[in-house]
Amino acid sequence: MKAVVKTKKGYDNVELLDIDEPQVYGDRVKIKVAYSGICGSDIHTFKGEYANSKVPVALGHEFSGIVVDVGPEVKNIKVGDRVTSETTFETCEHCIYCATKDYNLCPERKGIGTQVNGSFAEFVLSREESVHVLPENVSLLSAALTEPLACCVHAALEKSTIEKDDVVLIIGPGPMGLLLAQVVKSQGATVIMTGVSKDKDRLEFARNMGVDRTVDVSSEDLKEVIDSMTDGYGVDKGFDCSGFMPAVNDALPLLKKKATFVQVGIFAKKFNEMDQESIIQREINYVGSRSQKPSAWVKSIELLKEEKVNPEILVTKIVGLGGFHEAIDDLINGREIKIAVDSSKID
Ligand SMILES: [Zn+2]
Ligand SMILES: [Zn+2]
Repeated sequence: MKAVVKTKKGYDNVELLDIDEPQVYGDRVKIKVAYSGICGSDIHTFKGEYANSKVPVALGHEFSGIVVDVGPEVKNIKVGDRVTSETTFETCEHCIYCATKDYNLCPERKGIGTQVNGSFAEFVLSREESVHVLPENVSLLSAALTEPLACCVHAALEKSTIEKDDVVLIIGPGPMGLLLAQVVKSQGATVIMTGVSKDKDRLEFARNMGVDRTVDVSSEDLKEVIDSMTDGYGVDKGFDCSGFMPAVNDALPLLKKKATFVQVGIFAKKFNEMDQESIIQREINYVGSRSQKPSAWVKSIELLKEEKVNPEILVTKIVGLGGFHEAIDDLINGREIKIAVDSSKID
């Protein structure tokens, strides 16, 4: 079968190759891939910035498809089911994190599209526990974005809470920021989203999607906007989806005292100069959010089923398996918001 494979470490080294089709065993489920989302992490892998990814490996970890075969131990998933899958392919099964299904924190977790072959291919293998059958009203395209949706649900509803009276600040109008805005809006809260001048189109997209107020911080005073919307108290919750420390530092003093700030974006550097004074004086609960875990998938699929979120509107372009390089170039240059790979096509 055709697959988009990272063949060796370093810049690029990504090729469309013929590899063996995966075969089921034990609790494994073979899925004919419909769509996969291209993730920011795929860009890092393309650039050779991820030291931990195993090579060679077929990339792709956000996907949907149809079950075509199941292993002898599979109980509930059937051939023909429309599904999406968590990225967890294997865990150690004995650490304290596995005991509570915090698989995102298991030190020996193996992920689809990073340590084992992923979904930029005609077929992908998963394990029954990771596979979720889709409600009938959820499209395969939206379902392909359940993984990033679950990352946003984990950040907003597990590492924080969202009340309907909350005013919530989201920094960064990339795919994660926009999806997170959908999750926050699904809880009835008010969203303020920030970006810079190059994000003009994305901020407009955000407003059309239902974000209450967007702020281009290169031309508008964020403090004034927040003060006017919160009686001068500051926002109830903040989320960084930019990984840009100066933006985080600008936001920290604009949080309400006792607010929660969730760090979703990853910083380019391990150590950064941070406004800890605001965290202390305002008693801010600053928390990290890493990836997603099974509970976030269950909530994500409920949100999809209830049509409270609509991930597919973020997909501005669809390419075939042979379109990976073109797509990466589009994403690096900010020409598209989210690109999906259609595994039934090559071109
Ligand atoms: Zn991803
Ligand atoms: Zn474990």
